Amino acid sequence: MFNFRVNATHPKFVPQNVMKPFLNTVLLASLLISASPSYGQDANVQKISANVYSIFIHYYHSLAVIGDKGVLITDPANAVRADILKTEIAKLTKLPVSHIVLSHEHYDHVGGTEVFPNTEIYAQRSTQSVFRLDELGLAPQKVHHPFDTTASISMGGTEVELHHYGAGDGVATTIVHLPKEKVVYSADLYEVGSITDKKWLDDSNYVGSRLILNKLVALKTKYAITAHSLSLDPKHLQLGADFYNDLYDAVEPQVRAAVKQGFPAVMKAYEELPQAVKLDKYKEFKNYDHLPAHVKRMVLSLFHGG
Ligand SMILES: [Zn+2]
Repeated sequence: MFNFRVNATHPKFVPQNVMKPFLNTVLLASLLISASPSYGQDANVQKISANVYSIFIHYYHSLAVIGDKGVLITDPANAVRADILKTEIAKLTKLPVSHIVLSHEHYDHVGGTEVFPNTEIYAQRSTQSVFRLDELGLAPQKVHHPFDTTASISMGGTEVELHHYGAGDGVATTIVHLPKEKVVYSADLYEVGSITDKKWLDDSNYVGSRLILNKLVALKTKYAITAHSLSLDPKHLQLGADFYNDLYDAVEPQVRAAVKQGFPAVMKAYEELPQAVKLDKYKEFKNYDHLPAHVKRMVLSLFHGG
């Protein structure tokens, strides 16, 4: 089913100071075995259908949909990664990248669009209020197709649907759905086998993230791509939604009751709930010890809105 190509051992990572060729071989083998997703991974291309691929490079996933006249991609991320992505796409088709869809406004996902000239860029309209503050010049100069709640793009025989259900990670959260191929792509809403590291939570609305993940589960897709994990298995999407639902259920009744009692009670809930809430179902997940930060984020999202 999958065209699985791993190129995780970049030559520069092979140790230079090993004297015996045998040892060199052993070390190389161990590096290959530990070829799990890493920040330095060059390219891992997975074929989903005749014209749809998912390409994982440098810790970011892009969807690539080959149409009749050009290729649609998501999240080039940055110029260095975009160059590698361009090379990988050239191995699949002679057609140029013609459409870029941005998953949300965070600069680490939207850079590198300049590597693909003459493209039509799609992003939810709220990206604009953050792009205008882009001091480092990472965001695209122009979004050609700002949309509010939905947009649709035809790429040959593949319909690419974009949906914005509200704020999630960032305010301009967009999910990409290919109904025929049963694929959904999202970014920064869940990870595989891990709770999100607490350093990335500050710009997330957890009421929104929960709502969006439940919408994605309801699509019943065969493939679920999330930006920073290799697996396309929708069971991880389900687990991500379960986490937000369980977190919401543990927190929402208490915040609702506190809001009725006034601001001092809300502040008490804000201080106490992060220590009190435990979600044992997820204790084997990476970063489970960051759970208090997730509880705090859900509390804030409920009574503060962000
Ligand atoms: Zn993000």
